[in-house]
Amino acid sequence: MLHFIPAPSHEEGDILKATRALVDSRVRKTVLEDDKNCQFRREYFDEIARLRLHSLTHPKEYGGLALSHRCYFPVLLEIARGNLAMSVSVSVTNLVQGAVAAYGTTEQKDTFYRPLVEGKWMGAFSLSEPQSGSDAAALRLAAKKVPGGYRLSGTKVWCSNAGSADLYLVMCRTSEHRTKGITALLVSKDTPGFRVGKLEKKLGLRASTLAELIFEDCFVPDSNRIGKEGQGFEVALSQLDAGRISIASVALAAVIESVELIWKWGKNNQEAFSAHARHTMATHYAAAQAIYLAVWEAAALRDQKQEVTQLASQVKLLASELAMRATSDAVHFMGVDGVNPNFHVERLFRDSKALTIVEGTSQVQQLVLVREMDSLFE
Ligand SMILES: Cc1cc2nc3c(=O)[nH]c(=O)nc-3n(C[C@H](O)[C@H](O)[C@H](O)COP(=O)(O)OP(=O)(O)OC[C@H]3O[C@@H](n4cnc5c(N)ncnc54)[C@H](O)[C@@H]3O)c2cc1C
Repeated sequence: MLHFIPAPSHEEGDILKATRALVDSRVRKTVLEDDKNCQFRREYFDEIARLRLHSLTHPKEYGGLALSHRCYFPVLLEIARGNLAMSVSVSVTNLVQGAVAAYGTTEQKDTFYRPLVEGKWMGAFSLSEPQSGSDAAALRLAAKKVPGGYRLSGTKVWCSNAGSADLYLVMCRTSEHRTKGITALLVSKDTPGFRVGKLEKKLGLRASTLAELIFEDCFVPDSNRIGKEGQGFEVALSQLDAGRISIASVALAAVIESVELIWKWGKNNQEAFSAHARHTMATHYAAAQAIYLAVWEAAALRDQKQEVTQLASQVKLLASELAMRATSDAVHFMGVDGVNPNFHVERLFRDSKALTIVEGTSQVQQLVLVREMDSLFE
């Protein structure tokens, strides 16, 4: 089996082994069926959460494992090797945990954070609206201040884990100021006036849910506000780096899986598996290994609580674009087998396309990087 170097060691290595065992015995076994049926399996998420894989960097006092990000990102990669969509669902829950950990009060940590970390609840993170995808600060979902809380009216779109999650972190507009007029509210799945719309059909990541959220005069108490009123954009941005490194890890799984799949296929198709195909796929693997080292460094920087925004954008951009190239090449080199779902590479190809969009498109990552470059030459 192919793997990246270095791998986490000792205690972290045991967690990776446990992840691999769970993925191979459960998640991987039904991936074709789940992709075909657009089925998210909550029971798999629950098993992942029982091992605390979704919250392993979080403190033990709240039910986490207090392990490093150098363990967490490889674990996400390992889950993604079995099913990219499941790994994305896990990482989204982790973002909600991260926001409540960073901005929640002690009371909110007991009420919301603990069940998320313990894996009793699954989270969803809702920022996007039809007119505010890349331009997230253009969001409009109205949260009107009323005694004791807020009344929400409007819709959000493209929310991963929608319909599967227990708790939604929703960014709302509380005043006209573009960024300081945004407030973060936690909405429980059974809140009156809140419902999940029709599940979206999508090209890739079909085994995780994506849907519209509908709010009809929905009351959310002040006690569910994360951070201060007007601090919601900051709350959302605080999770961006983690989200981007997570997607980079998931994308690397698509690369390593496509390389492994084509090599196994090549054993039975030696004449079709040309020298050109081998060289190309080996080069993709080399690029993935190099990006993995950057992910590894980004993880270390997060553990040291250091600035990582540039590196997060770099690895997200490079890994998701590499996943597109590697999976597309694998489909191509395998010919008719490449487009046959039973050979898996066509699913990896479809999933990889979604990875170039979620958590900021490739162009948005380029904008972040260009802004930094410009600032260096001012
Ligand atoms: C699988 C999946 C899961 C998702 N899950 C979530 C979720 O859980 N929560 C959530 O809030 N959102 C989620 N999203 C939404 C996602 O964040 C948005 O799709 C993304 O930010 C892009 O926004 P958009 O689709 O409106 O595209 P647009 O912003 O309209 O962009 C369209 C195109 O224009 C390009 N573009 C936009 N602005 C610029 C610019 N300034 N310069 C150059 N090019 C530009 C983009 O790169 C893209 O190619 C998900 C999306 C996908 C595909």
